Amino acid sequence: MTTPTLSPSTLPPRSPPTNTTILISGAGIGGLFTALEAWRHGFTVRILERATHSSAQGDSVTIGPSALNSLRNWPWMQARNLEITESPMLFYCNHKGERLNGPIDMDGLVSSGRVYMHARPRLHAMLLEQLEACGVGVEYGKKVVSYFEDVERGKGGVMTAEGERIEGDVVVAADGVHTKSWELVMGEEVEAKSSGHGIWRAAFDVDVAMRDEAVRERWQLLEGGRAVVELWVGPDVYCTFLRSKDRFTWTLTHPDTGTAVESWSHKVDIEEALAYTATIPDFPDYANRLIKLTPPDKLIDWKLMWRDPNSQWTSPGGRVIQLGDAAHSFLPSSGNGGTQAIEDAISLATCLSLAHTNNQPYPSALRIHNLLRFERVSCLQAFGVLNRDARNTKNNDPKDKKHEVKLGKWIVEHDPDSYARERWEEAVKCVGEGREKAWKNWNVPRGMVYVPWTIEGLMEARERGERTVLDGDWS
Ligand SMILES: Cc1cc2nc3c(=O)[nH]c(=O)nc-3n(C[C@H](O)[C@H](O)[C@H](O)COP(=O)(O)OP(=O)(O)OC[C@H]3O[C@@H](n4cnc5c(N)ncnc54)[C@H](O)[C@@H]3O)c2cc1C
Repeated sequence: MTTPTLSPSTLPPRSPPTNTTILISGAGIGGLFTALEAWRHGFTVRILERATHSSAQGDSVTIGPSALNSLRNWPWMQARNLEITESPMLFYCNHKGERLNGPIDMDGLVSSGRVYMHARPRLHAMLLEQLEACGVGVEYGKKVVSYFEDVERGKGGVMTAEGERIEGDVVVAADGVHTKSWELVMGEEVEAKSSGHGIWRAAFDVDVAMRDEAVRERWQLLEGGRAVVELWVGPDVYCTFLRSKDRFTWTLTHPDTGTAVESWSHKVDIEEALAYTATIPDFPDYANRLIKLTPPDKLIDWKLMWRDPNSQWTSPGGRVIQLGDAAHSFLPSSGNGGTQAIEDAISLATCLSLAHTNNQPYPSALRIHNLLRFERVSCLQAFGVLNRDARNTKNNDPKDKKHEVKLGKWIVEHDPDSYARERWEEAVKCVGEGREKAWKNWNVPRGMVYVPWTIEGLMEARERGERTVLDGDWS
């Protein structure tokens, strides 16, 4: 499919102006998607970003159909998305690189729709390009250091590092795991705990990797030029290799000895990764050769931190809301960080639009969005902890299916826009009457009764053989 030229004729129809400004901090995946959806619903959008200029960063990110089915509303992005997806065939391997299972077509991995594997820089660039075509620019070099709200005037706002005070009718904190919005929203920060692991991650030009004959021979494209992704599992080993037409991406999870940092700009030397692979019995030479080919500035050591779920995303006066990683961080093993940030964006924009058309105050729209989203996201956070647990044990057995990618119907068949519309009236009543505790969500595993959990409590309960949030019908 050829992507149509990005022009005014490919923009979606826009709702009439609402005369309401949505101020967004953070031009990542969640912030940009919020800006797009809010624009489509007739809101005026301002978006502030800490980085001084637009830059393409990151390696791979997986986005599910519950997020990207929404591109049906965005004709240009719908076509562009198909053009940029890597669409690889999946192999499960042991730590020696022997292929045990596969090729599995990732396009057929879920009951409905498709899971898209993207180079994050391309996905990010697509969202930015679309936003620019809508006439919305990102304001770079604006680092948000605090949030406030003025309930009487019906405003929320931020202070930047330069001392600038910027207001909006609604403020969205989409500024990632280190957001400062917690001071206003919860009063205290959710503690980030080390999971005990870090992950080396790198992405670079495939031509660099293909210079080595052994690497070239091992990772060839499949018939029709299909990309290949491999998951290697073994005792204390969990790594991935993705070879596409133009990129090579590899990741390797390792016990954290204090070298990793929860930052996407924490670059390290490949010698650290090679020292670790030297301890893995039978780790093949061609995989070490690939690691050695990684350009000097391309290897990141990301610290895998976890945070207990926090149900409060909305400020006391209802003018500021946290979104994406700022509200709920994920371990990569959940495969859901990007997907849930986009689902949040769609749900929030729909709730704001419904509030506007039904003459409901925006603070209740924020509280309804929070009510509709929290339990679902929290289940997926738990899912990431479980998957991670299944991947990083001394007894990792590649033949055991526990590490295989599992995305149940409740995950992929959800539509955050329809869900918000279907449940709106009921939710207005529930929030208006302060009956949130009695609310039952449908976007969670079937039959699940949500019981608040902590990571430590969850692990201990599983060890004792007790039922946990993970014991519902997750199919
Ligand atoms: C540079 C970068 C590279 C990444 N690479 C990967 C990857 O390869 N694979 C993967 O799975 N995930 C990656 N992620 C994380 C992934 O994008 C998110 O986990 C997920 O998409 C949820 O998106 P988000 O919008 O909540 O957060 P993010 O995508 O992290 O976006 C947060 C945005 O807020 C900006 N920001 C942070 N602090 C402030 C502040 N104080 N004021 C204003 N702006 C601020 C950041 O610069 C960033 O643009 C990366 C994130 C970043 C920022």
